[in-house]
Amino acid sequence: MNPASPKTNLLGLTRSDLEAFIEQMGEKPFRARQLLKWLYKRAESDFDKMTDLAKSFRERLKEVAEVRTPEIRLTQVSSDGTRKWLLSMASLRGKAGADEPIDTSQAIEMVFIPEPGRGTLCISSQLGCAMDCTFCSTAQQGFNRNLSVAEIVGQVWLAIRELGFEPGGNRVVTNIVFMGMGEPLANYRNVVPATEILMDDLGFDISRRRVTVSTSGLVPQMLKLAEETNCALAVSLHAPNDELRDELVPINRKHKIAELLDACWQYVDKQNARSITFEYVMLDGVNDKPEHAFELVRLLQGHPAKVNLIPFNPFPGTQYRRSSPAAIERFRDICNSHGVIATTRRTRGDDIDAACGQLVGRVRDRTTVRLGSKLISVAVET
Ligand code: SAH
Repeated sequence: MNPASPKTNLLGLTRSDLEAFIEQMGEKPFRARQLLKWLYKRAESDFDKMTDLAKSFRERLKEVAEVRTPEIRLTQVSSDGTRKWLLSMASLRGKAGADEPIDTSQAIEMVFIPEPGRGTLCISSQLGCAMDCTFCSTAQQGFNRNLSVAEIVGQVWLAIRELGFEPGGNRVVTNIVFMGMGEPLANYRNVVPATEILMDDLGFDISRRRVTVSTSGLVPQMLKLAEETNCALAVSLHAPNDELRDELVPINRKHKIAELLDACWQYVDKQNARSITFEYVMLDGVNDKPEHAFELVRLLQGHPAKVNLIPFNPFPGTQYRRSSPAAIERFRDICNSHGVIATTRRTRGDDIDAACGQLVGRVRDRTTVRLGSKLISVAVET
């Protein structure tokens, strides 16, 4: 509920939520289905444009409901077609206006990557992150708060509005990955209904193989996710042994690699999924040596796994460097020649800093305060 508005935000309601809302209004259940399609599939917020809804119903809706989205504060388009937006979440809480400076502690980045035959949108699940991975720029700003369901699906809604449809009527956004800011499974309560809306055939209607939740390895939530939803899963592995992973991805101190992989294979079994994608950020001299590749092969060989090698994106203050192209190629070849499929993620949108965490980083002129192990940001626009 927005303190500034007594109206219900329809954005973020699942099919059953909306049905309950419509019933409460004393309207027929099929109205919920009509409304869902306008709301998500057509990304419409103006009730007057929902022409197949009875006029009296539209008038009543206007009194009690609205569609409240995050707000686009900056847009950048790369020469390679990659797009990046800075979104403010403050508007959903009634705290911002377009003429006010950007409060970057309430901002996330969203990136769209066009490729032949598909368009991938990278969205966020939290403001900041508490996982503290050493190579991740989001970790530097600490954890602020979870995003609500409306704030999560609102990102997709805005991208569809911005990018629209192809001449044949197909949507430009075809794939969604939770690889922006935050740890999706640490915001399980909101991420699960968001994936439900994304995959619902009356909602955004994106196929289950095209919605990917990426996790640093919250094992109990992974096991729960296997029972409760059916989206694709990516796991940020980044190291082939516990000693190194303990350092790079601190959640590993709690859930070791063996336990993590066991949860992955259970996920595949329960979901009848094709495979799990393992993300592996390539850090020069840290995790990119041939012996690391051989260790990784031993972990994944014979399992339904794909490895995605991600060249490290440096950011100010980091101690790491990106692995050389030769090291990345050698690593990839060792995996592939031993039956573990590995591909290298192409870096995109370099000219607009579209790599992880970089737009917020650039806008921010941040005063950081350390509170325990967390960094809290007090930010102003530069
Ligand atoms: N918390 C989730 C999702 C967000 S991170 C997770 O850990 O999976 C999404 C991906 O970006 C992860 O694989 C993460 O390791 C990677 N990433 C983070 N910082 C990076 C950087 N500086 N360079 C390259 N990849 C990075």
